[in-house]
Amino acid sequence: MSRLPANALRFKRALLKWYRAHARDLPWRTTRDPYRVAVSEFMLQQTQVARVLEFYPRFLRRFPTIDALARSGPKAVREAWEGLGYYRRAANLHQLARTVVREHGGAIPDDPATLETLPGVGRYTAGAIAAFAYERRAPAVDTNVARVLGRAFVPRGRGIEGSRDRRAKGSRDRAVWELAGCLLPHSRRTAWEFNQALMDLGARICVARKPRCAECPVRAACRTGASK
Ligand code: SF4
Repeated sequence: MSRLPANALRFKRALLKWYRAHARDLPWRTTRDPYRVAVSEFMLQQTQVARVLEFYPRFLRRFPTIDALARSGPKAVREAWEGLGYYRRAANLHQLARTVVREHGGAIPDDPATLETLPGVGRYTAGAIAAFAYERRAPAVDTNVARVLGRAFVPRGRGIEGSRDRRAKGSRDRAVWELAGCLLPHSRRTAWEFNQALMDLGARICVARKPRCAECPVRAACRTGASK
């Protein structure tokens, strides 16, 4: 997708306006510390925001820096993660800290391709750390964002969501990542807001089962919402 869809500008303006008035107040949004952003992203893989809000400060009190985490033993890391579940994430985060200290001088990289080489970091998490910690113009497409973009920009019947065919899914994934990259505003700060705004819209309005189109701020620019 080399050109922006016709409804893109309208969608972006409406989304940013809504986000600036209604953004969720989340502790990992008030920092650009890459370690703190990485901790939040690992916790948010497979866990709801409300639950992460309980555990995030506790973990950071126990391991305030990437060096502190890298120096600790697996038992202490697991204890600090206790209650969040999916302990594989804690083990990966621990390994990431050790790798960053050993191979990157303690500085989490800012480039998505390098980030993807770290333990537990897939394409989404790499994009999210680059975008949210370093304000890089990097797309970060999770399930919520893919759903919003699919509904807003792909005509019904050719949905980014839908087919279970593996090849179709692969080309759908490529299309949604490309679209997410094309939509990013040029200013790094605004790109940061835009990525956060897509996540908020997917989590609060354009939800999986019953999208709340009647109260959606981008409805007039959405190919699904406008046709309802
Ligand atoms: S109008 Fe409906 S389908 Fe479109 S983005 Fe908003 S909630 Fe989602």
